Amino acid sequence: MHAKLARLIFGGTCFVCRGAARDTLCESCDADLPRLAPPSEMSLCPRCALESPSGAVCGRCLAQLPRYDATIAALAYAFPADALVHALKFRGELALAPLLGKLLRERIASPGSVDCVIPVPLSSQRLRERGYNQAVEIARHLGTAKLAIDACVRERDAPPQAGLDREARRRNVRGAFRCQRSFAGERVALVDDVMTTGATLDELARAMKEAGAASVVNWVVCRTAAETGASHV
Ligand SMILES: [Zn+2]
Ligand SMILES: [Zn+2]
Repeated sequence: MHAKLARLIFGGTCFVCRGAARDTLCESCDADLPRLAPPSEMSLCPRCALESPSGAVCGRCLAQLPRYDATIAALAYAFPADALVHALKFRGELALAPLLGKLLRERIASPGSVDCVIPVPLSSQRLRERGYNQAVEIARHLGTAKLAIDACVRERDAPPQAGLDREARRRNVRGAFRCQRSFAGERVALVDDVMTTGATLDELARAMKEAGAASVVNWVVCRTAAETGASHV
């Protein structure tokens, strides 16, 4: 359909290309999203969601088992998914949360298989600065009644993680989270916008298991392909 005509009828503008759109994205930008779900042929490690031949647990995970048991990622951290996540996190584009929540929800095969959904908490200082927690905003759109926003708190922020390797990032976040209640026997899902080295999620999973959680799965919108100097953790 002619873009001008479509805009007259639907009134929407695509967040990425600014063309006419019925929804947050136009059909073409939506089709361009780097989805990690089928029909993508990419095989992923079930534990960390990085590429892994034949979909087996990868060498990195075998060398040092993460405290989380599994990772489900909706998208690769590549254009335009990275632009959407960045805009939600740093530019206050809260209108993107429903779209990112929907993309993640579509990727989760059995959302009912967990007892509790925990968005990765921000420290109270970071929350005051930003005014919202992007992980909470995404989790609100997962359509789950098991959201537990204040069940775990972040007591301190890690220093900037960019350029640090996995081990340095692990040290940086150690002891950052404190559970406010027991999670005895519960199957927990952690929600975040981006997973890079997984150090933050690993530390949160450690806190959950110390509080008794039976299993921990990461539900993340974007997964970076490798450990680069990205600013996300
Ligand atoms: Zn578009
Ligand atoms: Zn792995």
